[in-house]
Amino acid sequence: MADVNRRGSTIRDGGPWVEPPRPGSSGLCHYGPVTEQQTTSSPRPRVSARIAAIAESATLAVDGKAKALKAAGRPVIGFGAGEPDFPTPGYIVDAAVAAAKDAANHRYTPAAGLPAMREAVAAKTLRDSGYAIDPASVLVTNGGKQAVYQAFATVVDAGDEVLLPAPYWTTYPEAVRLAGGVPVEVFAGVEQGFKVTVEQLEAARTARTKVLVFCSPSNPTGAVYTPEETAAIGRWALEHGVWVITDEIYEHLTYDHAVFTPIVRVVPELADTSIVLNGVAKTYAMTGWRVGWMIGPADVIKAATNLQSHLTSNVSNVSQRAAIAALTGDLSAVEEMRSAFDRRRRTMVDMLAAIDGIQIPTPEGAFYAYASVQGLLGRTFRGVTPTTSAELAALILDEVEVAVVPGEAFGPSGYVRLSYALGDDDLVEGVSRIQALLAEGR
Ligand code: PMP
Repeated sequence: MADVNRRGSTIRDGGPWVEPPRPGSSGLCHYGPVTEQQTTSSPRPRVSARIAAIAESATLAVDGKAKALKAAGRPVIGFGAGEPDFPTPGYIVDAAVAAAKDAANHRYTPAAGLPAMREAVAAKTLRDSGYAIDPASVLVTNGGKQAVYQAFATVVDAGDEVLLPAPYWTTYPEAVRLAGGVPVEVFAGVEQGFKVTVEQLEAARTARTKVLVFCSPSNPTGAVYTPEETAAIGRWALEHGVWVITDEIYEHLTYDHAVFTPIVRVVPELADTSIVLNGVAKTYAMTGWRVGWMIGPADVIKAATNLQSHLTSNVSNVSQRAAIAALTGDLSAVEEMRSAFDRRRRTMVDMLAAIDGIQIPTPEGAFYAYASVQGLLGRTFRGVTPTTSAELAALILDEVEVAVVPGEAFGPSGYVRLSYALGDDDLVEGVSRIQALLAEGR
């Protein structure tokens, strides 16, 4: 249940954000030691209702718990993290080392990013997505996550509804709520390959609908929309004046016959009412470098840059120089990592599909397998009878020391997400342990 703000409206219930009343009218604050009076009888909450309503990132929580157990010497295998296990390719690291030695990179730079980085994003967009953009329409951010936050903050007003295909990446609803918006889940289950249809979106659309979130290849499901499906959704959004925030961070990770389809390429008129989110983290094994970007119409990018100029200023220049090397280099290192992920994907899906009670469509993108565990709930394992995927995930961690992320982090209960971005041996060992435990169910 959500925190209730002081006018009684709950954020989680989807009501529009209501500013808590401000006691006193002077607007002045007095710094100094906190008194007994303030801590015990102050009518004001210590943490703002807006921030108190944010849930911890469940994926980072699972990963943190697994890492802590590992540090304590336990043989834990973690399928929680959304990050490649490879080191960043050497030529990218070399560019960063050289940049760190150049005093030009020891200073602030324009908030929107180094001009060379914005140009590299424009050139890369033409190369990978097949359409031209002006470097001025690029804002370089601290990871894709800051781009996600700023995109919603920039186009969502209080009470605006944001259509969120579910299962969704855990950060989207929090970023929508922080912007004062109302996330509206549109659920697609296993039988639809975790992909929403235009009919579902249309049924969820109201006069308050401002934005559709589109993430293909998808975290958490690994689903990839076909060119036809992408075009149909893009045309629907255009026809109804719904903005599209399209998260393309897994663009290079597709398998089998799946292809990544940039929605703005197939519906070019969307350029004026869309924001593309992207970053180097997943493609180049650069999660720790914190470089992402957003691409959008001039007014939106200008407004988002103003926000960023007060929030974080520019992204670390050394990291931007590394990202420039990544984006202007070829894609051979990416292809090597992709084929390793592909091999692991097939191993993992085969092993999970063999478990009685699990249903899993073959993921075609990103590095996640998303399995329905509904057939396992209600069975008893070692005296425990999980009735939710959160309980099942806790059981798996407690009994066989394997960390998976429960579906509750991404929408409805009844699913688990496993990342296959980890070494082949660990992967086989981890899924074998899950198989052995789940085979005990009665
Ligand atoms: N979008 C999606 C769909 C993601 O999965 C992630 C990382 N988990 C991000 C954006 C953000 O990535 P980063 O901030 O590391 O660039």
